[in-house]
Amino acid sequence: MPLTPTLLPDLIQSIDNIIEANADEVTALDQAIGDGDHVTNIQRGIKALMAETNELAQLDWAAAWQKIGMTLMSAVGGASGSLFGTLFVAMSNAARLHSEQNSTIDLTQFAMIFASGVDAVKQRGKADAGEKTMLDVLIPVAAYLQQAAQDSIALSVVLDSVAKTAVTGMESTKEMIATKGRASFLEERSKGYIDAGAKTSQLMICAIVTLLQANLTSPT
Ligand code: ADP
Ligand code: MG
Repeated sequence: MPLTPTLLPDLIQSIDNIIEANADEVTALDQAIGDGDHVTNIQRGIKALMAETNELAQLDWAAAWQKIGMTLMSAVGGASGSLFGTLFVAMSNAARLHSEQNSTIDLTQFAMIFASGVDAVKQRGKADAGEKTMLDVLIPVAAYLQQAAQDSIALSVVLDSVAKTAVTGMESTKEMIATKGRASFLEERSKGYIDAGAKTSQLMICAIVTLLQANLTSPT
């Protein structure tokens, strides 16, 4: 399976499906400890990307991530728009710096690129692990990918573990007290709810994993 941006139309479609299927649950989470708009924000971004899929599929990874990041920054409102936008723009910058040929990418390159993106989100949000945000999913997934690349673990195993790491990270936000974002205004009362951005990050990662697993096992 060539891991090229020709996968992007299908990836974006599966992300749209998984967010749609879980929209009510995520809205309830953001209503409980935020302002309730997180799913609408994310869906606005996905729709904007869906309008660009043909174009995205023609690009190399660096150019595709750049375009995705810029689109998310301008289309998505809320904190999550600039944070997810930053993730992809920083991944694009890292891809330009560290890989000569960006149409396909291996696990070692991707792990480094994704880690750069997550670092940029940390800086943009002035946040780190344990603050009850999307970073409680993104940071452990980035760390796992780097470890897996170092240990030369088979891609099929890596994909399974990425999904599990994302779910564990998402669930870990439930008992955290929010110290960043709107939920931080609630202090102790933010406890007992999963963070909405951690939930959508986990859902999107799991949708990507499922699609890549299907592509890995398909004969073509
Ligand atoms: P808003 O909070 O502006 O309404 P959204 O509802 O779209 O924006 O997104 C909220 C999500 O953004 C939170 O659930 C959390 O995961 C994430 N978030 C908020 N602030 C930060 C931050 N400083 N760093 C990292 N993630 C953050
Ligand atoms: Mg919100």
